[in-house]
Amino acid sequence: MSSLVVAIDGPAAAGKGTIAKELARTLDLAYLDTGSLYRAVAHAVILAGGDPASDEAAAHAAKTLDIEAIDQTAIRTREVGSAASLVAAKPQVRAELLETQRRIAKHPPAGKAGVVMDGRDIGTVVCPDADVKLYVTASDDARAHRRWLELSQADPDLTEKQVLADLTERDRRDSERATSPLVQAEDATLLDTTNLSIEAAIQAALDIVGRR
Ligand code: C5P
Repeated sequence: MSSLVVAIDGPAAAGKGTIAKELARTLDLAYLDTGSLYRAVAHAVILAGGDPASDEAAAHAAKTLDIEAIDQTAIRTREVGSAASLVAAKPQVRAELLETQRRIAKHPPAGKAGVVMDGRDIGTVVCPDADVKLYVTASDDARAHRRWLELSQADPDLTEKQVLADLTERDRRDSERATSPLVQAEDATLLDTTNLSIEAAIQAALDIVGRR
């Protein structure tokens, strides 16, 4: 029996991760945050003193990535988020990570019957045959506010304006790159979380999955 795949794509800080995690828990599926893979590649380049804009440095980090050893705290910074969108534009990096993501989609960990994956190109490139596709978005201001609430705990001087500038630049790079740009799949259901509470967004996602 082939595994069940729920693909969730959308711009940064739209609520994809929160929704994906909760769907996975409710449906007893595995969860894969594919953004963490790109972040981990960027983090490895930075730790090695390399330049995330360098093709060689990024390709080497992607080739040698150990997904079991990702430091989930260290990869959540602004610096790593921005560097992730630089390494993610590189075809060699995407090709390396594509295999890893497809393997997990086909054989979900812990014997689960399927996987919920969130990212930018899951429904379009990684798993175009996914059973359910959601495109989660929210207004720029709502996304910046949410991400600012998270990041300002560790960085009290950070302003919402700075976060908005980071997100806008990252979205631009993710949408304009030649390889696997961020775009809504034709068969994805749009979920705009701008005016939804976390609970309401999760319920809306569950309803969409239920209708399939
Ligand atoms: O989802 P998150 O914000 O953690 O992703 C970090 C970066 O990784 C994104 O800005 C994007 O450049 C890249 N990414 C991607 N494709 C994915 C997931 C993330 O290009 N499937």
